[in-house]
Amino acid sequence: MLVWHHCSVPFCSNNKQKVPYMSFHSFPNDKGLRARWVRAIRRDEGTAFRVLYGSTYVCSHHFCPEEIYTCPSGRKRLKKDAVPSRFSWNNWGRRFIVILFRFFFFI
Ligand SMILES: [Zn+2]
Repeated sequence: MLVWHHCSVPFCSNNKQKVPYMSFHSFPNDKGLRARWVRAIRRDEGTAFRVLYGSTYVCSHHFCPEEIYTCPSGRKRLKKDAVPSRFSWNNWGRRFIVILFRFFFFI
């Protein structure tokens, strides 16, 4: 069975099929850093959510551009200690909310 890379961040529906140009990053091996990722995406590792190597990814949408670099091979890689930080529920999504707000109050 072919499994598409998909993003495990809540409210994010990016997957490799939809956005093939986007890079998907697997969770770090380092336990401490991995825990920070899980906390950042507001998930808890348990029965409902498990970090599985090879199938649990976070898309590049949630990282600052300076945390991502391109390898000589053209593959996108994350810098050491990079943690996803851009989500729909924090400032990063505020611009969209402002647009929605304007839409409702100025029409
Ligand atoms: Zn995503």
